[in-house]
Amino acid sequence: MKTELPDILPKIKGPIALAFSYQAEDVAALQLLLQHSPASLELEIFTLDTLKLFPETYTYHETVERFFSVSIKTYYPLPAELRQLEEKLGEWGMRGSLEDRRYCCHVRKVAPLKQALAGKSAWVTGLRAVQSLTRRNLPVLEYDPEHQLLKLNPLVSWSDEDLADYLEKQGLPLHPLYAQGFKSIGCAPCTRAVKEGEDIRSGRWWWENPEHKECGLHLKKHR
Ligand code: SF4
Repeated sequence: MKTELPDILPKIKGPIALAFSYQAEDVAALQLLLQHSPASLELEIFTLDTLKLFPETYTYHETVERFFSVSIKTYYPLPAELRQLEEKLGEWGMRGSLEDRRYCCHVRKVAPLKQALAGKSAWVTGLRAVQSLTRRNLPVLEYDPEHQLLKLNPLVSWSDEDLADYLEKQGLPLHPLYAQGFKSIGCAPCTRAVKEGEDIRSGRWWWENPEHKECGLHLKKHR
């Protein structure tokens, strides 16, 4: 599969982070990075534990670490912000309104992401343009003004077939929920299995309009 990583990676000075959110795309991006990184590259693989993940996700986390012989660093919501959030929304309040859902995503994902990216020169994502309306115009390499570093989207032009083909040829392990009809992996209250033929992201925040379906990690501005 074509990738621009061999050209781009040697030009980046300083530490790079891979945001690993347990998607099939992330495992492909991790494999690409490990294959194409120069020996001198300082790479941190990190994940954001929202404390709302599926139990299977923790099992899969261990599977990935073992498979690649890597350690995935986990970032958590800040305790004071989390306490305030839980007092306001309780267990399920994130479904009450778009504003409440974004508040939950902000505390559990967006704020920890800022911590994860602090001091990094670039971050790598598994975003693909065909995933949703909100990702149609993504470039391979862009400047992320929100976090003030480069953002690399090496899978951006990959089709569903490209991804499936790459995963199979490389023999990469997938999150177990894919076998149960999930097409995207997220938090338990906000993610469900989808029917054959439905949009990849339709199981995420299924009660919202498609143009709102981002958690804030990949938006230049939020709330
Ligand atoms: S996806 Fe749902 S549970 Fe997870 S942080 Fe966002 S609103 Fe909260």
